[in-house]
Order: sequence, then structure tokens, then C-alpha cells
Amino acid sequence: MAVIIDGKKISQEIKDEVKAKAEQLKAAGIEPCLAVILVGEDPASRVYVRNKKRACEYCGIKSLSYELPESTTEEELLALVDKLNNDKSCNGILVQLPLPKHINEEKVLLKIKPEKDVDGFHPYNVGLLSIGSADLKACTPAGCIELIKRSGIDICGKNCVVVGRSNIVGKPVGMLLLAENGTVTTCHSKTKNMAEICANADILVVAIGKEKFIKADMIKEGAVIIDVGINRMEDGKLCGDVDFDEAVTKAGYITPVPGGVGPMTIAMLMNNCITACEKQNA
Ligand code: NDP
Repeated sequence: MAVIIDGKKISQEIKDEVKAKAEQLKAAGIEPCLAVILVGEDPASRVYVRNKKRACEYCGIKSLSYELPESTTEEELLALVDKLNNDKSCNGILVQLPLPKHINEEKVLLKIKPEKDVDGFHPYNVGLLSIGSADLKACTPAGCIELIKRSGIDICGKNCVVVGRSNIVGKPVGMLLLAENGTVTTCHSKTKNMAEICANADILVVAIGKEKFIKADMIKEGAVIIDVGINRMEDGKLCGDVDFDEAVTKAGYITPVPGGVGPMTIAMLMNNCITACEKQNA
């Protein structure tokens, strides 16, 4: 039976480290601060924003909350981002996605100053990630790496397979594994012989958004399985992209859904806020 990687516990450790760093900064007269911008009424986004504000509170990071109506124009949102870009007391800017359809997301994300881009989505930070020198790394991918490393698993030289190539998960996970000297293969919807490729992976990271897609025959005996997927089943419960019940009997380590990668995203966001604050005050 696989060791179950406890994302709740590891994310708590990270939040406690962040909290200690925030206290040190405050002792030096610097108050870390994150601005969170929400446009519209999307219920899931409201929950995410609430959780981010709660995490800030726990970690001792000041949060500035901007809850704007659906009717907010692109110009108004860009003007707010600009104002926060120029506000020295604000270290990080997070614009909750998705934005209403009349607002161009790319334009808004590009407007955020790279040093305040705590989501790590700005092309400048993505570029730094690809050359292995990013300070602000995309949160979910960075969380996957922390789960692996803090479980005592060495990535160096391992055969790493990432299933999914999205800009927010698959591609950055691949780059981070490469930076850790893994030998990385990325699979996507056009990949041939995927089962065979996955079954060769020492470390398998799955981010496709397909309920229980990865079965035991796609898993190497003793492999490390990081399941990023969050899918809601017919009965309302959540499950990952990996068939956990099958995989747990074959893998060496596995993350559950929920309670694996999920809690790591916010912890890494908090970590990015502190990094941004430290860099801006260096
Ligand atoms: P996207 O829909 O943006 O990307 C999905 C990727 O999976 C694409 O690259 C696609 O390939 C690939 N894919 C889809 N079907 C298959 C298949 N049958 N075989 C191989 N590859 C396939 O999703 P995201 O990356 O945004 O998210 C993936 C999952 O992770 C979702 O369940 C999402 O909810 C979850 N997630 C969880 C987070 C967390 O905090 N835990 C954060 C972000 C996402 P192609 O490019 O060829 O279309």
C-alpha cells in the first residue's frame, strides 16, 4: 500500500513558516500585504477569495479586498491594478480568475507588475521559471514540488511524467521538475502510447480534469503519484484524475483528492506574498 502524502499537514507547515517570516518582517517595521481583486458574483470564486483572505489572516499578511461588481469595465480594473502597482505598501496583487467575459484576462494579468505577480502567471515570471531563476512560481505547480520534496523523495535523475500541458499547471510543473534534474516527459490529448509512458514514470503528475482517468495499469510499481485533478462526481463528492483505490495498491506514494495538492495552492500563494515582500524591501 502506498504512503499517503498529507497535503493538509504539509500546507500547514508551509503556512507556519510563512507566519514566522511575516512576524520577522513586522518586527523590522514591514507589513506584508496582498491585494485580492474579485470581479462579479461567481460563487466558486467567492469561496476561493474568502479562503485566501483567511489564509492571509492566519499568516499575518494584511489583505486588501476589492470586490467589484460584474459591470466593472476593463479600463476600471486596469486602473485599479495600476494604482496597486504603484502603491509601495502593497506587495502582491491577485486578480481572481475567471473574469467576466467583457474583460480581457491576458491584458489584466500583463498589467500586474511582475514583482507583485504572486500567482506567477505573468509571462515575465513564466520566462524566469523556464530559465530556472523565478522567485514567484505558479502556486499549484510549486505546491506539487513541495509535496514531493517534503515527503523525502529525491527528484534528481527520476523519470518524471506530467499528464496535461496547461499554462497554469502542466507546463510549469514540467519546468520545475526539470529544474530539480528530473527527466521529464509531458503527455497531452494527442499523445500516443500514453499508458506505456505513464507506466514508466517514477514520478507521475496528473492534471487533466478527467475523473479517475489513470488506472493501475498506467502506474509503475512503487511510483510517486501527484494528482492535481479536482472533479465532482455524480454523488457530489470530489475525486482526482487518478483512480485512487486502484493506484493506492500499486504506488509508493500518492496524494489524495481532496487533501493532497488542493491545500498547497493557497500555502504557496502565501509563500509568494512573503517572497515578494522580502524582495521589494531588500
Ligand atoms: P486544462 O483543461 O487547462 O488542461 C487540461 C490538460 O489535460 C490539457 O493539456 C489537455 O491536453 C490534457 N488532457 C485532457 N484530456 C486528456 C487525455 N485524455 N489524455 C491526455 N491529456 C489530456 O486544465 P488545468 O491544467 O487547468 O487543470 C487540470 C485539473 O487540475 C483540473 O481538474 C483542475 O480542476 C485541477 N486544478 C487543481 C488545482 C489545485 O489547486 N489543486 C489548481 C488548478 C487546476 P491538450 O492540451 O492536448 O488539450
